[in-house]
Amino acid sequence: MAAADHRILSTGYNGAPSGAPGCLTSGACPRAFSDVPPGAPYDSGAGTCIAVHAEANALAYARPAMILGATMYITTWPCDDCRKEMWRLGVDRAIWPGETANSMVTTLLT
Ligand SMILES: [Zn+2]
Ligand SMILES: [Zn+2]
Repeated sequence: MAAADHRILSTGYNGAPSGAPGCLTSGACPRAFSDVPPGAPYDSGAGTCIAVHAEANALAYARPAMILGATMYITTWPCDDCRKEMWRLGVDRAIWPGETANSMVTTLLT
């Protein structure tokens, strides 16, 4: 995540909370062993996942006052929960790779 002045604020990755078994540890994550389609809700039913999303981790480790106007660089479109948290905390936009080479997708969150 980069601040409005383009300095790096924080980074994050997708994973279980520190010290907890990971998603691929046998039985640790219901979603990892289910057949829910990509994009299915992460917080309910068979698609429930124990991981904290990269966006949420990046937000958690940034100084709150610096987030206003930030840009989040992510690997794919944000889920609804992360999109809501980015918007709530003042992230201006999110950018991720597009479907064709050298293309990017940008969404404004404000
Ligand atoms: Zn998981
Ligand atoms: Zn998410």
